[in-house]
Amino acid sequence: MTTMLTLTMNNGLEIPQLGFGVFQIPQDETEAAVTTALQAGYRLIDTAQGYQNEEGVGAAIAAGDVGVDDLFITTKLTNGEQGYDKALAAFDESMRKLRVDVLDLFLIHWPLPMFDQYVDTWRAFEQLHRDGRIRSIGVSNFEVEHLERLAAETDIVPAVNQIELHPEFPQDELRAYHAEHGILTESWGPIGQGKGLLENEHIVAVARAKGRTPAQVVLRWHLQLGNVVIPKSVTPARIRENIEIFDFELDQDDLATIAQLNTGRRLGPDPRTFDRR
Ligand code: NAD
Repeated sequence: MTTMLTLTMNNGLEIPQLGFGVFQIPQDETEAAVTTALQAGYRLIDTAQGYQNEEGVGAAIAAGDVGVDDLFITTKLTNGEQGYDKALAAFDESMRKLRVDVLDLFLIHWPLPMFDQYVDTWRAFEQLHRDGRIRSIGVSNFEVEHLERLAAETDIVPAVNQIELHPEFPQDELRAYHAEHGILTESWGPIGQGKGLLENEHIVAVARAKGRTPAQVVLRWHLQLGNVVIPKSVTPARIRENIEIFDFELDQDDLATIAQLNTGRRLGPDPRTFDRR
């Protein structure tokens, strides 16, 4: 069985360094996928209100052998429910669907700066944290200017910022800001969302040399950067493959080879302009 590494957040609590993402897994397939992941050794599950599969995650937790105290459950406030009161109500709904009493990590999914509600929303998160209903609070898709605004106007520094990050878009500037301010970086789209990264010749070459798969090489790269990483798959063999990354290391040459992939291009939307609610 894999020995899972953990990282320590700025509030002293630990987070598993590898988790299981469930974006785009239909509700009726989510329980089976999460059950496979738990059996493979994953302990962090990353869902969101917007994924419409929190009930499937909750069903897998309720039916599984892993106690809720040994799990780390993350969900995210959906974009349409930003604002103080709406965030509180939406949180209650997630807890009902996930069937847990205390949530490990709640994230603001997108900053939506054009609506100017994320500071108010963050105050609701702070309240839920003070009330003991969420152990850690964080954000997703926040740029430096959004983090700076929270720092200036609110009390709690986010524990985590979950952002698009992979070898083609390594987010050096934001990672440096996070490191300076005690925020953990969590990578979404970490293996390139099935859009060609794993076929890249440099990744394939490192994988061959190491006797590993391209997905394992890229996930190992995330671990060595110090990121939390949450790959998604519905295929049991791949779910197991993606967690077998704690027993090898990339050396400086491998890291230099992978660094060549940086194009600075995103796969997903730009958080400064993304406005879908
Ligand atoms: P990903 O990079 O994890 O790619 C998933 C895809 O890669 C799969 O659908 C499959 O096609 C392929 N794949 C998985 N394992 C493989 C393997 N071993 N070999 C070959 N191909 C493999 O992309 P993602 O799902 O977008 O991101 C991971 C998680 O991040 C999501 O499930 C979700 O939890 C989170 N996420 C968050 C945001 C956000 O805005 N906060 C956005 C997107 C995703």
